[in-house]
Amino acid sequence: MEQSVAVSAMLPDTPGPDLTANKTADGDFNDLEGTSAEYQFTQDDVPPHTRYESSDAPMKTWLPFREEYLDELSRWSGRGGSSSRCPAPCGKPAAFRCKDCCLGQLLCSACVVKHHQGMPLHRIQEWSLDHARFDRRSLSELGLTVQFGHAMGRPCARRQSATKDFVVLHLNGIHKISVFFCHCQHPEVPHHVQLLRAGFWPAP
Ligand SMILES: [Zn+2]
Ligand SMILES: [Zn+2]
Ligand SMILES: [Zn+2]
Repeated sequence: MEQSVAVSAMLPDTPGPDLTANKTADGDFNDLEGTSAEYQFTQDDVPPHTRYESSDAPMKTWLPFREEYLDELSRWSGRGGSSSRCPAPCGKPAAFRCKDCCLGQLLCSACVVKHHQGMPLHRIQEWSLDHARFDRRSLSELGLTVQFGHAMGRPCARRQSATKDFVVLHLNGIHKISVFFCHCQHPEVPHHVQLLRAGFWPAP
């Protein structure tokens, strides 16, 4: 009997097959799967969809907000009302922001490097007072270095600098970063393995 309740809940209210026709003399149902497969669904079985203007004409809904959105987009071309001082306790002049971190807050160079210890491939911009615009800066220019083979912030006692131009191709662009390989372990871990362990794919 429990089986017949479950099947009737699956079927629509519209006229369908007579389930009692499959009832045997002793009160059980047989071949219910075959019965539901034979039922022919019609357009009337599909519940009506609620229609919204935002889904039918999304641009029409956005139109009243056009100026406001464009103003806010233009705001990203400037300092966006950020304070001239770094919000961190250092209080130094704030001229750097990251395109890959949210909030768009301006920091001083030391704080932006400190904040990116584990994110050397983020794109940094510096506010130019002379040109009233943002120019691209790399984190390595600002002093960020990456140490392989050790916990973040723990330099290797026998570290070895990589080639001068250590270039990384990433989803957000091409980066030159300053990296150091570890040479304090025994046996030494090959450079390409150190790269793989840090999440970089070595290129010849
Ligand atoms: Zn960032
Ligand atoms: Zn700061
Ligand atoms: Zn080491």
